[in-house]
Amino acid sequence: MNLGENESVDVVVLGGGPGGATLATLVALRGHRVVLLERHRFPRYQIGESLLPSTIHGICRMLGVYQEVENAAFMRKAGGTFRWGKQPEPWTFAFVDAPGLRESGAGFAYQVERSKFDALLLDNAKRKGVDVREQCSASKLVQDGGRVASVQYTDDTGREREIRARFVVDASGNQSRFFDLVGERVYSKLFQNVAMFGYFKNGRRLPAPNQGNILCVAFELGWFWYIPLTAELTSVGAVIAKEHASKIQGDPEAGLLRLVQACPLVRDYLAEATRITEGQYGQVRVRKDYSYCNTRFWAPGLALVGDSACFIDPVFSSGVHLATYSGLLGARSINSCLEGSMDETRAMEEFERRYRLEFGVYYDFLMAFYDMEQNTDSYFWQARRVLHTEETKNEAFIRLVAGVGTAPADFFAMRQGIGASFSTAVQAIDADSDPGNKTVEKEAFEQAVHKVRLDDQVSLWRDLIHQGLEGVPPVEAPSSSNALVPSPDGLSWCIAPSVQPGEAV
Ligand code: FAD
Repeated sequence: MNLGENESVDVVVLGGGPGGATLATLVALRGHRVVLLERHRFPRYQIGESLLPSTIHGICRMLGVYQEVENAAFMRKAGGTFRWGKQPEPWTFAFVDAPGLRESGAGFAYQVERSKFDALLLDNAKRKGVDVREQCSASKLVQDGGRVASVQYTDDTGREREIRARFVVDASGNQSRFFDLVGERVYSKLFQNVAMFGYFKNGRRLPAPNQGNILCVAFELGWFWYIPLTAELTSVGAVIAKEHASKIQGDPEAGLLRLVQACPLVRDYLAEATRITEGQYGQVRVRKDYSYCNTRFWAPGLALVGDSACFIDPVFSSGVHLATYSGLLGARSINSCLEGSMDETRAMEEFERRYRLEFGVYYDFLMAFYDMEQNTDSYFWQARRVLHTEETKNEAFIRLVAGVGTAPADFFAMRQGIGASFSTAVQAIDADSDPGNKTVEKEAFEQAVHKVRLDDQVSLWRDLIHQGLEGVPPVEAPSSSNALVPSPDGLSWCIAPSVQPGEAV
């Protein structure tokens, strides 16, 4: 129902991608009035097709869309295969090899056509009570009394409208026009890469049981992703350092094909394939300047979720995980404020701190992973270092790339009452925030800094990512009587009762 010019709701969400759809649904599930403005009509194209188990088995269950996703028959992704580092032969990891994922049946994810996956999430949001308005483009956020108080937008008939909200969520992705109302977007100097990608028919598949794996292949100019989306359709993209960008200037199709020729493994896999030249997959696309982090993730009345807040290099397929996970965190904080159980500063700082922590884990590990002079065991060791764990073999690495790096091993075992499993997950995050651990991390981090020759600007970037994590006060420890944990349904925060570490909350 359109309420006209005097419209006023609880929350307006800008953007109907995975971040916006997740947040909007989880706020509407608590009975609040949510309007979501999306400038396109879905389905629409988007890059970011390789998903993680955390999104499928964690978030999609909370959203109540797990069954629809399963019915969509997306390509099942058992894990990843990498030709990476000093080891000349490709090596493979399987999600089922991580404790916790194996026992609970969560040892897989999907490769998805984003036009279909995002539409499933947005349709689900409508069913759960979100007022979704497609072809509505937000143009301006209006402040009142020091907080963002309303959104001006152009509706699907071209008419200018304004809608008031107690909270506005900017989930409009990397194209956001609003992040600077919150802070500054700082671009990574280290991950200054350019991505060039297209779609092919009849590319080769890895042998079973890895035929649905993402294949990542390093070559002299950068690395390739090779993502099987269906039995016939493959998404193929090259990520190269900015200094090599001149080699692919001009016609993008010719540039991509030149890069394929420079990477023997991908060239072989595409030997019998043809590039798709029509429809949503018909174009070779180029993306750059996509690794950044905002100095702040919220301001009074406004939160940044998903890519509008931060994004880091796609090698671990973490984008949709970070977007949906931040949607969950943001929903908990906003629900807590709307229901009057917490003041805005406390609730939104919790959102920002946890989002930054998860993002920081990927960032730290990526710096080590981009060092091609290492062997596979060294990467696994780096994953243990980043997660502060003594796990054996490649278990820490798999948990990290499954999107449950900061969650306990039994994260997926607790599928009954998913809110409870998220409660346990955040206890682990709190434990990980112990100031003592951070000192160790900082030292090890500095070593990695020198290895990859970071300059001062990158140090600034590092500080931004970890802002709020250093010197975390003991109040956040799980044994504290004042720590925030998710409510039993997982949709808001509550103050933890005084418990001993390891005891269920
Ligand atoms: P988006 O998905 O960008 O959604 C934002 C929505 O907001 C869009 O629908 C847009 O139309 C809408 N919008 C924008 N402006 C407005 C406005 N003014 N008003 C209303 N609506 C608006 N992630 C993975 O998980 N796996 C991968 O394999 C992967 N590969 C990637 C490869 C590359 C080269 C890049 C650059 C990224 C990759 N990603 C990957 C990241 C992934 O694309 C993003 O992290 C993810 O889409 C972020 O979701 P989001 O909801 O924050 O934003």
